[in-house]
Order: sequence, then structure tokens, then C-alpha cells
Amino acid sequence: MLKIYNTMTRQKEVFKPLEEGRVKIYTCGQTVYDDVHIGNARTYSSWDVVIRYLRYKGYNVFHVQNFTDVGHLTDDADQGEDKIEKRAKEEKINPWELVDRQIQEYWQVIDDLNIQRPNISPRATALIPDMIELIKILLEKGYAYEVQGNVYYDTAKFKDYGKLARLKLDEEKARARVGQDPLKKNYFDFALWLNAQKGDQVHIMRWNSPWGEGYPGWHLECSVMGMKYLGDTLDIHGGGIDHIPTHHPNEIAQSEAATGKKFVNYWMHAEFITLNGKKMSKSLGNYVTARELIDEHGGLVVRMGLVSGHYRSAVDWNPDVIENAKNNIEKIRNCLNAIEDASGGKVVTLKLAIKDVRKDFEEAMDDDFNNPKALAAIYEFIKKINSSLDNKKEILIQARQTLLELLGTFGLGFTRKEEGVDIKLNEIIDIILNIREHARKEKNYELSDEIREKLRKVGIQIEDGTEGARWKITT
Ligand code: AMP
Ligand code: ZN
Repeated sequence: MLKIYNTMTRQKEVFKPLEEGRVKIYTCGQTVYDDVHIGNARTYSSWDVVIRYLRYKGYNVFHVQNFTDVGHLTDDADQGEDKIEKRAKEEKINPWELVDRQIQEYWQVIDDLNIQRPNISPRATALIPDMIELIKILLEKGYAYEVQGNVYYDTAKFKDYGKLARLKLDEEKARARVGQDPLKKNYFDFALWLNAQKGDQVHIMRWNSPWGEGYPGWHLECSVMGMKYLGDTLDIHGGGIDHIPTHHPNEIAQSEAATGKKFVNYWMHAEFITLNGKKMSKSLGNYVTARELIDEHGGLVVRMGLVSGHYRSAVDWNPDVIENAKNNIEKIRNCLNAIEDASGGKVVTLKLAIKDVRKDFEEAMDDDFNNPKALAAIYEFIKKINSSLDNKKEILIQARQTLLELLGTFGLGFTRKEEGVDIKLNEIIDIILNIREHARKEKNYELSDEIREKLRKVGIQIEDGTEGARWKITT
């Protein structure tokens, strides 16, 4: 029974999707003005493990993640500049060009870290008409108001605005902030639509709307995309802990006011990464991109570092993380190689360990995705394999497959001993050899010879033995 810690209730709850066997999940994506940093990468890796584990459990998971390519201001109180336009100006390039470049950078990092791509990754700018429609509904229902070409959400109208963040609304309001937008009625109100003209500056990315030329507020896109692609109520919504105080309460306010339905059943939030014990911050120069680390250590090592902790525990990214990741990877590789080299014996003592590791792994993951505990069970299993190489070869191979499958839920893909050969090749050749075996059993030697010959031509040699066919790479 899978339990998920729900930020809304601050408790672990038994997971029950709306539709049996299906999971609809939305996660907040990258604001594409800068490279993916190690904090972003950790949050995305956390969701990847959640999704892979749900798939492991047999759920059909549909994942939507946005690209914020407009409207995310440098200041949460709608006062600052659009991060994208600001950076484009600094680089003296068009904001659309910046966004395209950063989306490409994002995909390269995601692929190198072996994070499964979402089913849909819409850009905020692709949904402007839907956003305008949602604003119209909120205005009609009295949840929004227009001032000088801007439209704001009226948080005083939405009951329970502070529920997710557990905000003490009166206390917060009393701390009136200097420089707060004078156009807003209430302290927590936020922009749904912003006038493209601000002083003598005109926002480059702008669209026509019933309120004049402008651009959407940042929070709108997640409500619109979530509801458009997943329906009025989502099973799971994920984001970093920075979204608890403002972004997610605003998403809830927008969606629930429009539909009258609960927006999300399970809210999940990933903790932040610190760097060498300090807050990761660009202004402090305390900052590291995922790309730098991948180039230095390889995607697998970085990925191992990212998934070794629990997603709700803060993690400090320091040299020990990489060191431990490398050691653990070596431990796994050595075990996989030992299995391949073992000629195998007669005993079957590993059978029980194979069962146990799966049970321990599932127990840990069912407990709000406890990666460290699940990985500890896997390392324990490795120890057992290493001292049980006298097991029958078929049991050893079963152990290897279990190991690879469980590691796969962490996005940790291992290669065969032969350099550069992906483990998928093993599986593919096994499928082909099974078909060939079938052909031989049916005395279709023409087909079985043809398969052998074709494989030989691509550098894979097959030898038929008493225990079935074996293969090796010859080129
Ligand atoms: P952003 O590009 O700032 O919109 O962030 C993209 C995602 O990364 C969001 O889910 C954030 O919550 C998350 N995030 C941002 N900074 C960090 C950090 N230091 N550690 C972990 N996650 C982060
Ligand atoms: Zn969001």
C-alpha cells in the first residue's frame, strides 16, 4: 500500500488515484532563462523516481510539466522584472531566442540524467488563449478585478486561501510590505494578467486581450495546463518547497474558484539543495549547474548523487556526495561483472534473497518513496550476491535482472561489461534468441540460421550449447 506525504494535510496518506490504475500528475517545470542547476535537477530526479515507481507498480502514469517562458517575475509580489526579458536584455538577444536555447539545454540535461521526459511539456506562451478564458471566468465569478490593464486575483474572495501554506493571514497582512503594488486591493492578491506597458518600458512578449496588450501572470499557466491536459482534479502535483507559500496557493485559488472542485488530491514538495553547507544562490556565487557536474563526472554519477537522499530531506551537495555516488556505482558494477564472470554452481540459496530484496525495496518505496532505505536494501542484496556466486547460473542471472530492474526505478541504468554496450542490448538479444529457439523447436532451421547469420553480420556471434544459445560481441 503506497503512502504519500501530502503537504496539504502534513501527513502520510494512502494513495488512491481518482481512476483505478491511472495516475494524473503535474509538476512545476523550469523557468527557461538560465541553465538547469543542481537544485532543479534534484527536484526533477525526485519526480522521476516517483513516476518510475508508480509505473513499476503497474499504474498508467500521465505526466505534464510546463516550461515557464513568460511572466515569472524576479519578485514574488509582482513588482520585479520578467526573468526572461531581463536576461534577454542582458545578453542582448531576443527573449524568444533565449527561451528556445534554454529549452534545448534543459532537454540535454534531462536526457543525460536519464530522467524520463514528461508525456507533455507545454510552454506557457502556447496557451495564452486558454489563460485569457480562465481570467474571464474568474472575473465573471467575481474572483478577479481589473486595474489599468492589469487583472488581479482577489484573494479576500477565496475561502481558505492560506490553507496549503498554513498562512496566518491576519498576521501576514499586518506586516504591510514597503513597496507593495498600490493597485492591489489585498496583501495576497496576485497578477493574472499584466499590462505590457510599464512606465516607458514595453514588454516584448505580449498578446492582445480584453484588457489591452499584456502578458500572463506566472501562476496562471500551471492551473490552465493542469486542468486542460489532466482534468479539473489532479491526483498528484509536485514542486519544490519554494512553491508552498505563494505559487501553489495561487494555483489552488485560481483553479478551485473557476471549477468549484478540488484541484489536487496529493501535494508533494521536494526539499532544497544547499551547496557546501550554504544556500545555493547566484548572487553569492554559490551555484553549480547540472551540466558542469555531468561533464565532469558523467550522468550516472550525478544521478546517483541526486537520488541517494529522501526527496523531503534537505541535501548538501559537497564532494562527499560525488565520492559516495562513485563508490556505490563501483560496488554495483563489480557485482554485475562478477555475475557475468561466474561459471555458476549447483546451489539455489539466492532465491530467497531475490524475493527479500523486492519486498524490502517495495516496503521502503511504499513509505513515501524512501530512496535511501530502498537503496540500502539493494546494497545488502549485492553483498549477498557477492558471497553466493556458487549459485546456479540461471539464479545468478535472475539476481542480476532483479538488481537492474530495481536500480532502474531510480533512473540508474547500467551497461554490460563490454564497453559502451547498453544493457538494453541484452534484453533485445534475449528476445531475438527466444524467437530463434522457438523456430528451432519447430524445426524451422531456415529461420534460425537466418537469424544467426544476420546477427553475425552486425557483430554478434551465437554459439549453440546444451544449455541453450550463448552470444558474444565480435566487433
Ligand atoms: P524555477 O526554474 O525556479 O521555476 O524552478 C524549477 C523547479 O526547481 C521548481 O520545482 C523549483 O521548486 C525547483 N527548485 C528551484 N531551486 C531549487 C533548489 N535549490 N533545490 C531544489 N529544487 C529547486
Ligand atoms: Zn507551477
